[in-house]
Amino acid sequence: MPELFANYIAGEWVQGAATFEDRNPANGEVAGCFVKGTARDVEDAAEAAARALPAWSAMSAPARGNFLYKAAGILDRNFERVSADMTREEGKTLPEAKGEVRRSINILRYFAGEGSRLPGMLAPSERDRVHMFALRKPVGVVGLITPWNFPSAIPAWKLAPALICGNTAVLKPASAAPLSAWRIVEALHEAGVPKGVVNFVAGPGGELGHALVNAGPVRAVSFTGSCQVGNGLHAEASKRRLRIQLEMGGKNPTIVLADADFPAAVENVVNAAFFSTGQKCTATSRAIVEDGIYDRFVAAVVERTKKLRVGDGFDPGIDIGPCVDQAQMETVLRYIEIGRKESGEPRCGGGRLTEGALAKGYFVEPTVFADVAEEHTIAREEIFGPVLAIQRARDFEDALRMANHTPFGLSSSIQTSSLSRVFEFVYRAEAGLLTVNLPSAGVEYQLPFGGSKESSFGPKEQGQAALEFYSDYKTVYLKY
Ligand code: NAP
Repeated sequence: MPELFANYIAGEWVQGAATFEDRNPANGEVAGCFVKGTARDVEDAAEAAARALPAWSAMSAPARGNFLYKAAGILDRNFERVSADMTREEGKTLPEAKGEVRRSINILRYFAGEGSRLPGMLAPSERDRVHMFALRKPVGVVGLITPWNFPSAIPAWKLAPALICGNTAVLKPASAAPLSAWRIVEALHEAGVPKGVVNFVAGPGGELGHALVNAGPVRAVSFTGSCQVGNGLHAEASKRRLRIQLEMGGKNPTIVLADADFPAAVENVVNAAFFSTGQKCTATSRAIVEDGIYDRFVAAVVERTKKLRVGDGFDPGIDIGPCVDQAQMETVLRYIEIGRKESGEPRCGGGRLTEGALAKGYFVEPTVFADVAEEHTIAREEIFGPVLAIQRARDFEDALRMANHTPFGLSSSIQTSSLSRVFEFVYRAEAGLLTVNLPSAGVEYQLPFGGSKESSFGPKEQGQAALEFYSDYKTVYLKY
């Protein structure tokens, strides 16, 4: 019998009438059963969070930080098990899962330390003997909705700043991978976080998301996921004038110039396009390559891609796991067919892998299309899978124009040895996250994270910037 994971409301593990399965996309085995939460559970969780708010927000921020330090320590002790859970439920390779759990631990510690700073503002008054300053105060009860592709780091980077600022929270994880988020909540519970400060309700996004945005006590919603869902949430949240933060899709370019370190550029593009099965929001899905090296670059990327090993993320030496579920795999295969019609036969990959044990999972070959025109669908729409579209650019100006020619603006990368081009790119690329001579994916937690244009809405996540969303200012003028 697979283990049953309950929801967590008001400090209690809460059962329910129905359950759903969290399955391993590599082989279909059940990674865990989850209690299927209801709209009523979300309302109860929001009420519990409201009851916990006065005491939690009145506690000193360093004391709140101590709970985060403890939870980080608990995750650290359970590091191997928590990482394996992630590979089992999401399919990413075990080294990738370990990297993500390590990041979650670091995020908890980073924001625990923020409890000893929580910077306010102090400014000199124009008036005699007036002292003026601005304090941070929490927003209140926050609703957090997270996707499956970083099932631990994203819940961590929302929960930790929310809690350190003195808010209480209701977390709704993705149904395809709820266990990694559950492990963080379990760690916070074991760390002794007071009842109601953190609540967890798993279950269908439509029903629970609607309930969360409409729950009376909720004052803010932070969402990461698709544009379609995010835009719908924004419309609903605006009716209640909720504070809202959206991190959504992308169509991220990597520009490769003729003066780049060629082997490093090939490696960076292949890494950013295919690792984590191309299911990173910051993954490269378009490589825009300068004419002079175009044919050589395509050949080198194809040669390197063919060497990638696809399989069960627990097997040593595997580079790429499965798509997260059947629906995602079908989406990817559908885009590959569209690519075939519009851009021609892929230079490598192009199908599902079904040999031997792979038949039980949702494995797709890493696929490279070349000579993809700007108007082709696979150059415009987010696929969220192991598919790379390579495009030819006349020169740097043409490449930059193509890179910016998208409604999205999450990440953008350049591979070049020219300092001048780097700065042109830094100032003119239309994205919230830029990388230079690195893969477009792979961010740290100490600086702001988030996109621009259609990819994002609201204040940035992570680093000190995260405090802006999860706190408000109270300004004080004091005559002495
Ligand atoms: P999704 O389908 O939008 O789901 C995200 C979350 O929203 C899940 O918890 C989902 O619950 C919930 N949800 C679904 N329908 C909802 C509704 N009507 N109201 C409220 N919540 C609802 O996205 P996904 O497939 O999990 O993730 C992939 C997408 O996320 C990609 O577009 C990717 O680019 C984006 N992403 C962006 C970032 C970033 O930082 N910009 C990071 C990671 C991922 P269920 O799972 O129960 O459906």
